[in-house]
Amino acid sequence: MINERVDTAAAAVRRICDEVLRRQRFLLTSHARPDGDSIGSQLAMAFALDALGKTVRIVNADPAPDHYQDFPGMDRIEIATQVSADVDAVIVMECSDLTRAGISGLEGEFLINIDHHAGNKLYGAVNWHDESAAACGEMVFDVIRELGVALTTGIATHIYLAILTDTGSFHHSNITPRTFDICRQTVEAGVNPAAMARRVFDSNSFGKLKLIGALLDSMQLADQGRLAILYMDEAMLAACGCTHNDTEGLINLPLTAREIQAVVFFKLGPTGDVRVSLRSKYDVDVRAVAGLFGGGGHKNAAGFTVTEHLEQVRPRIIQLLVDAIEHGLKSRP
Ligand code: 5GP
Ligand code: MN
Repeated sequence: MINERVDTAAAAVRRICDEVLRRQRFLLTSHARPDGDSIGSQLAMAFALDALGKTVRIVNADPAPDHYQDFPGMDRIEIATQVSADVDAVIVMECSDLTRAGISGLEGEFLINIDHHAGNKLYGAVNWHDESAAACGEMVFDVIRELGVALTTGIATHIYLAILTDTGSFHHSNITPRTFDICRQTVEAGVNPAAMARRVFDSNSFGKLKLIGALLDSMQLADQGRLAILYMDEAMLAACGCTHNDTEGLINLPLTAREIQAVVFFKLGPTGDVRVSLRSKYDVDVRAVAGLFGGGGHKNAAGFTVTEHLEQVRPRIIQLLVDAIEHGLKSRP
C-alpha cells in the first residue's frame, strides 16, 4: 500500500515537472480567503519557477491576513476575482474544485491541480491529489525538489509556513515523519522555527486580544462541555476594532481546554451570510459534517457556508457534531 502511494506520487510529481519544464508563462492561484498553506504553497512555487527563468503571476480572490504581509514575495500577489489569463498553464494549489479559487476566467486554461483536501474533483489537465499530505506545502516541496531547484531560504520559509499553519502548529492528526523530514530540510536551509512561530502566532493586534475576550465570554458549551460554540458578527468585530482578517486562529482557542473535543465557529457576515468553521481533536471527523452542508476540508479542520436560515439549520449542525464527537471518542488513542 505504501509503495503504491509512493509510486503514484512519484509519477504525478514527474508528470507535473514535465509539464512545467516545457512551458514558460504561469499563473498561480489558491483558495479564496487564503491561509498559511495557500500563501506558502503559492510563493514557494513562484520562487522555484523564478529560479527556472519562468514568468509567474500570482492571483488570489482575497488579500491574506495581516500577519502574513511581511513574508517574502507577498507584494507579488494580485487580488482579483476575474482574470483573462494569457499564460501557458495555471497551477491551482489547495483547491478541491476550481470554484474554491473564487476567480473566473481560469476554466479553459491548462490546469495543474495540486491538493490535499479530501474529495478533490480532479478538475485539472494534470492532477496530483494526496490526502496524506499534512499541508499542500509538502506536495509543493516534492515538486520543487524534482524540478531540481535549490532550497533557498525564501522557498524554505514558505514551505515551513504552509506546514506550521496547516498542521494547526503541529496539532492535527495528519502529521507524519515526512512532515518533520521536510521541516528539517527547511531549517537547514535557514528557517528559524522560533521566529516563525512568533511571527505567525504572536503578532496579534490589541484589537484581536479584545476580540478573543469577547468571543470566549460569549462561548457556549454543549454535549457536557465537549463541544464549544462560538459566534461572531459585524458589531462584535467593530466593537473590538477588528476586521474578518483578524479572526484566523481564534477557533483553536477552545480546544486548549482538555474537555473540549470540537469547536464550531459561526461567523455572520455583513450581508447576512454565515461562514462556519469547524475544528476537532484526534479522530473526531468534522470534515464529514462540513461535507453534509456542501463544504469540506480535513478531519480536524473543515468549513462551509450556510445557505439556509441559520436558526433553522443550527440544531442539526450541533447534533451532527455531537454525534461526530461520540463516534470519534471511541477510537481515541
Ligand atoms: P477554515 O475554517 O480555516 O476556513 O477552513 C478549514 C479547512 O476547511 C481548510 O482546509 C479549508 O480549505 C476547508 N474549507 C473551509 N471552507 C470550505 C468550503 O466551503 N468548502 C470546502 N470544500 N472546503 C472548505
Ligand atoms: Mn492546506
